[in-house]
Amino acid sequence: MNSQADIVVIGAGAAGLSAAQALSQAGFHTIVLEADGHIGGRAYTEIMPDGSAFDLGCHWMHSASLNPFVATADALGVRYERRKGYGRSGFFLNGDWLEDTDVLKGWKVEERREKAMVDAWDKGCDQSVLDTVDREGPWVEVFDYFDSLNTSSDIDQISIGDMVNYNDTEENWPVVDGYGTLVARWAADVPVELNTPATAVHWGHSGVRVETLRGTLQAKCAVIAVSTGVLGSGDLRFSPELPVKKSQAIEALPLGNYNRIRLTIDRHLFDDDLPERIVVQHPGTPPMQLSLRPYGFDCVIGIVAGRYADWLERAGPEASRAVVTDALCQTLGEKFRGQVKADRQSAWRGNAFVRGAYSTSMPGQFYQRALLAQAVQDTLFFCGEATSIDHFCTCHGARMTGERAAREVRSVLGVQT
Ligand SMILES: Cc1cc2nc3c(=O)[nH]c(=O)nc-3n(C[C@H](O)[C@H](O)[C@H](O)COP(=O)(O)OP(=O)(O)OC[C@H]3O[C@@H](n4cnc5c(N)ncnc54)[C@H](O)[C@@H]3O)c2cc1C
Repeated sequence: MNSQADIVVIGAGAAGLSAAQALSQAGFHTIVLEADGHIGGRAYTEIMPDGSAFDLGCHWMHSASLNPFVATADALGVRYERRKGYGRSGFFLNGDWLEDTDVLKGWKVEERREKAMVDAWDKGCDQSVLDTVDREGPWVEVFDYFDSLNTSSDIDQISIGDMVNYNDTEENWPVVDGYGTLVARWAADVPVELNTPATAVHWGHSGVRVETLRGTLQAKCAVIAVSTGVLGSGDLRFSPELPVKKSQAIEALPLGNYNRIRLTIDRHLFDDDLPERIVVQHPGTPPMQLSLRPYGFDCVIGIVAGRYADWLERAGPEASRAVVTDALCQTLGEKFRGQVKADRQSAWRGNAFVRGAYSTSMPGQFYQRALLAQAVQDTLFFCGEATSIDHFCTCHGARMTGERAAREVRSVLGVQT
């Protein structure tokens, strides 16, 4: 590894990679350090034995018409599906499939819920979702669950700022070949030092000195592109310590949890007229969304979020496999039970290089996203999904913040000749 560079980028997720791309293109000698053995961070695809792509992290290109990864996928020939919403959905609540008219009533409840949050926000209240929305009626738990999927936290932990300020065009396009595949191919030509965790950043007016497990390097400035989970853990030490305001912003934007649990079903047991996505809730258990035989592969993907995801992750893979199997069998029949042949699941809280799923601004703390994004002494530049003020929690949002950090670096270092 070279010991000198203009800029050192710490973290090769979507944010760090986009910063590195922009800075290298501008002529700066840029070194990217990545703790893990692959690039992409929370964008990571595994190819399953049946040939399907399973995303352990992001899968959907959200807000597609604003999402730069759509053009990237087109240019690289990475396959995705264009759709409105999340595809054909069904609801199986407390033992019954809901009729379309009941589902429409549910969406009305959701509209009222969203309006309550917008009204409160417009009045200047930054408070929790729990303190804002109506707690009566049969849909409460389902919409609480959806909010926890969107933010990876539970509704008492989420600022309504996150719900109101997210720029949602309602176009959610799944990447058939895997979002992780897309990110890896997009950034394939960015040189990255893999398996090289940065352990300390010494910073000051004369630049930065970054300690890694493979040696030390010197640069004019650093782009910090790791998650708030990592920043809050102390695994990456700053000397001198980060200013108090920066530490407070990190604390105010913790990662929640969200895991995807994929079960391989041995045979084709699915009726052809089943929806692609079902939301199921059985008495005494939290709601769960199941993707049924995505892209025609005989598998099911269950998703869990918030404290429940943490609890299940701690309980272990067998417990996760059991709850998804139960949800499937209680809804579509016991014929599936003996046919679950394998499972693969994410465990983001336990991933030492991320430490959770994505950032949530705590009640009263939405403004901290903008503060987290601010550079420190024109030497430390911050990016990553948590620093976005309108596309947070997403992969394209992370990419946009990397581009923003690169512009800030260029405005300080000037144009390279
Ligand atoms: C289960 C799940 C589902 C999701 N679904 C979607 C979705 O459908 N659509 C969507 O848009 N987004 C989704 N997201 C969110 C999206 O994946 C993230 O917001 C985005 O990928 C974050 O990118 P980032 O660059 O900010 O951070 P990261 O991807 O976390 O990148 C940070 C990098 O820094 C590295 N690192 C950490 N510590 C060090 C160190 N000390 N030294 C060097 N390197 C270090 C890490 O290994 C990592 O590669 C999902 C996330 C999860 C977990």
